[in-house]
Amino acid sequence: MSVQFHGPAGDAGLRDWRGAITRGVKGRCPHCGEGRLFRAFLKPVDRCEACSEDLYHQRADDLPPYIVITIVGHVVVGGLLLAEKYGDWPMWWHMALWPTLTIILCLALMQPVKGGVIGLQWALRMHGFGGEADQPERQPLPSRGRNP
Ligand SMILES: [Zn+2]
Repeated sequence: MSVQFHGPAGDAGLRDWRGAITRGVKGRCPHCGEGRLFRAFLKPVDRCEACSEDLYHQRADDLPPYIVITIVGHVVVGGLLLAEKYGDWPMWWHMALWPTLTIILCLALMQPVKGGVIGLQWALRMHGFGGEADQPERQPLPSRGRNP
């Protein structure tokens, strides 16, 4: 079974979303896989140094932290419950291990997850990755006055 995503360009421009996510997770340009994706820990480059793909219009926003929280929460809470059920650990072990593991996992996963999200956005031609202008920001509804 294959999954197909249809972006604004229709079937003409399907991109390999698995490859794009994989390249993003590795911190590489989702288009070519050669250029760096990040110029700092969580700051993507504006343009790929290898293929000149524009990357400035990515909008990963809050999705990477949500994904990281979900992954780390399952690992840490699952591990804690298993340790409580099958282990006889002193409390200080728990107090030392779980917060430390949480911080390490969050820091280790944040950049790869953000890269994967940017790769998915590129593959789906979201936010200008399809060559068209990005959708303008949604404007707030006009407020209604008391006397229309
Ligand atoms: Zn590139």
